[in-house]
Amino acid sequence: MHRRDFLAATAAASLGLGLPRVTFAAAHGGGAPAIPAARKFRVGEMTVTALNDGFLHIGPEALSGIDAAGYDELMRAAFRDPETYPSAVNAFLIESGDLKIMVDAGTGGAMGDTLGKLPMNLAGAGIDPAQITHLVATHLHPDHVGGAVLEGSALFPNAELVVSETERGFWMDDSNFDDASQGFKQIAQGVLSAYGDRLSPFSGETEIAPGITSMPLPGHTPGHSGFMLTSGDDALLIWADIVHVPPVQFARPPVTIGFDVDPAQAAETRARILDRAAADRLMVAGSHMTFPGLANITPDGDGFRAVEANYDYQA
Ligand SMILES: [Zn+2]
Repeated sequence: MHRRDFLAATAAASLGLGLPRVTFAAAHGGGAPAIPAARKFRVGEMTVTALNDGFLHIGPEALSGIDAAGYDELMRAAFRDPETYPSAVNAFLIESGDLKIMVDAGTGGAMGDTLGKLPMNLAGAGIDPAQITHLVATHLHPDHVGGAVLEGSALFPNAELVVSETERGFWMDDSNFDDASQGFKQIAQGVLSAYGDRLSPFSGETEIAPGITSMPLPGHTPGHSGFMLTSGDDALLIWADIVHVPPVQFARPPVTIGFDVDPAQAAETRARILDRAAADRLMVAGSHMTFPGLANITPDGDGFRAVEANYDYQA
């Protein structure tokens, strides 16, 4: 879907014409509406919707701590094709009371044709971007906040941007970036400026909304954060980028990715959270785990294994 179609669809929705139907007609030439890549499930009193933005292939050349042969072997062991394995890009909508909280916002089409589908899937889930009360950023990489801005303006015009103060500070300090990382920096700074005074920074473990607490997971970026949701007897840890290539990093947690700002710290954080998720039998939601990105974690040999979550038939 082109951005113009999306804007037209959004305008149509505000006139009461029905956002999902109009959007899908635009996307599919008026044919049968696509089934959105949106999956609802309950966490106690909260409803969480996993929303897919698309996928990207992350090959062995982007990873450290494993060679191509080792990568191929782990992919084949997981019944995945090492040449094409698609790492998902997921975001999560949390509906709790009057709040509609987006955790991350996809790429916004800044990263190629296989991505940029979050607005369509959000529309398919029946949500208008203007309804979003908070955009919570796990970190400020383009696959997480590229979609927060559309043509220089906030895609979520009424949302407060909730982001770690450490993360904000890191991206605002020009001295942290070499020539190769100017593009990432510009996207991050563009997002911070588009939300302007609607910025709500947090530090450490903070309850950012009732039942939703931030969890520092540093290394991938300095302020990279997860969010623990608790409601009734249920809990869910949205752990963002703890794994980028699940078939590789569950089996071999020390493997890091070129985008890690501090790879050693990222690996330490991954090891710690995998241990905790397994010990506490936590349900986790991952940005780059196969859509809808939900699993429990269990030890397996020298590493771990993800056990796919059940489908929530009643959400
Ligand atoms: Zn990511």
